Amino acid sequence: MFDYLIVGAGFAGSVLAERLAREANKRVLIVDKRNHVGGNAYDHYNEDGILVHKYGPHIFHTNSERIFTYLSQFTPWRPYEHRVLAHVDGMLLPIPINRDTVNRLYGLNLRTEEECDAFFASRAEPKEHCFTSEHVVVSKVGRELYEKFFRGYTRKQWALDPSQLDAQVTARVPTRTNTDDRYFTDEFQAMPLHGFTRMFERMLAHPNIKILLNTDYREVKRLIPYREMIFTGPVDEYFDFCFGKLPYRSLEFKHETLDKEQALPVAVVNYPDESVPHTRVTEFKHLTGQVHPKTSVVYEYPQSSGDPYYPIPKPECTALYNKYKALADTTTGVHFVGRLATYKYYNMDQVVGQALATFDKIIGKRKDAPEKIVISANKAPVTPLPKVPQAASVLAGAASSGTLAVGVNGPSRGTASASAALTKEA
Ligand code: FAD
Ligand code: UDP
Repeated sequence: MFDYLIVGAGFAGSVLAERLAREANKRVLIVDKRNHVGGNAYDHYNEDGILVHKYGPHIFHTNSERIFTYLSQFTPWRPYEHRVLAHVDGMLLPIPINRDTVNRLYGLNLRTEEECDAFFASRAEPKEHCFTSEHVVVSKVGRELYEKFFRGYTRKQWALDPSQLDAQVTARVPTRTNTDDRYFTDEFQAMPLHGFTRMFERMLAHPNIKILLNTDYREVKRLIPYREMIFTGPVDEYFDFCFGKLPYRSLEFKHETLDKEQALPVAVVNYPDESVPHTRVTEFKHLTGQVHPKTSVVYEYPQSSGDPYYPIPKPECTALYNKYKALADTTTGVHFVGRLATYKYYNMDQVVGQALATFDKIIGKRKDAPEKIVISANKAPVTPLPKVPQAASVLAGAASSGTLAVGVNGPSRGTASASAALTKEA
C-alpha cells in the first residue's frame, strides 16, 4: 500500500514526493504520462550533445531564501542573470524597457532616471486602477512603446488583445528608468549546474519513492492501492470537464542546432512584430554555460491546442476555474497542487513554494515552525561558485561538519550568509 499516489513528476509532484518520503517517511508512487521526470522544466542532451530545455527556456529566479535553500540540497548552481533583447524597428533593444531602450529607439540622450521618468510621464496615459494588461503598460510608458513592445507579442502569445487579459500578465515585465538590462531582479538567480533533470533525479532518489513513467494515472489508479492522492495535472481533466474545458494556451517548440558556436548576443530575442509567427528564440548555451562548437536554439510558436502550458489569466477563465476549485476543496483525500491543478500562471519557484506549503499543511506543521532541511554531506552542493555582483551564490561551507551556508553576495549587501544552518543526515 502506498501512502501517496502523486500524479505528475514536475516541480509540484517531485517536491511533495521528496518531502513526504524523506521527512514524513511516507511511501510514495509518482506517476507521469511522459517518459521523463521534471515536467516542463525537463532538460536533456540532444543528438549533438548540447543541453537543451525540451519545453522552452527555464530560468530559475526567486526572492525566497527558503525555496533556494531547499533546492540547493539537490544541485549546485551556476550564477546566471537573464538578459533579453526585443527585435523592434530593425534593432535589438533591451526589454524590459529601460533608459537605453528609449535612447536607442528614439536617438535620445536621456542621462538620468529623472530625465527618463519625465520622458515616460510625457507619454503615459495614467489610470487610477490598472485592471488589464493594456492598462498596465500604457499607464506607464504610453501607447507607442506599448504597441512596439507589448501589443503584438501578447496577441500572438495569448490570441487575445492585452485589453482582454488580466493586468498580471504584462505586469511580469517591469519598466525601468535606469540602465539595468536584466530580465529579473530577484535576489537569487541561478541555473542548476548540471541541469534541471539531474536536480529532479536527486530529489526523487529515495528508497520510499517509486517512479512510474509513460503512464496516465487513470490506467493505474484502480490497480494500485494508496491512501491519498496529490494531483498536479489539469484540474478540469481530473473532474472529467464537468463544468466545461478550462482554456490553456499551448506552444509548439521548433528546436534547431546550428553549425556555429554562437547564434544570439543574449539568451533570448523576443519578436513583438505580429508578422513574425514566433514569439521568441532562445539559445541554450547562454543559460547553461556549456562550451561546444555547435549551438542549439528553440523557436516558440503559440498554439490554441496541444499540451497545456499556460493557464489564461482573464476573468471568464478565473470564474470557470473557481467552480473547479470549489469542487476540489470538497474532494477529500486529493490535494491539488501546481500550475495546471490550481490554474495559476506560476513560475517554478512559486510552484515549489506552493508544494512546500502543501506539505506543511498535510503534516500539520505550524507556519512559524523552523524548517527542517536535511543535507547529507555527500549530497550537499559543494561546488563553490564565484561571487557575482547581485547574483546568488551558494557558499559551500563545512560540509564535513554538517553545515551549509546559503547566502547572497552583492556589493550592496556585503557577505550575508548562513541564515540556513542545516543538519547533517544521519
Ligand atoms: P508541470 O511541470 O506541467 O508538471 C505536471 C506533470 O503532470 C507533467 O509532467 C505532466 O506530464 C503530468 N501529468 C499531467 N496529467 C497527467 C496524467 N493524467 N497522468 C500522469 N501524469 C500527468 N518558470 C520559471 O520560473 N522560469 C522560467 O524561465 C520559466 N519558463 C517557462 C517557459 C515555458 C515555455 C513554460 C511553458 C513555462 C515556464 N515556466 C518558467 C513555468 C514552469 O514551467 C512551471 O512553473 C513549472 O514547471 C510547473 O510545475 P508543475 O509541477 O506545476 O507542472
Ligand atoms: N510580453 C510582451 N513583450 C515582451 C515580453 C513579454 O508583450 O517582449 C508580455 C506577453 O504578454 C507575455 C508576458 O508579457 O506573455 C509575460 O512575459 P514573460 O517573459 O514573463 O513570459 P513567459 O516567460 O512566462 O512566457
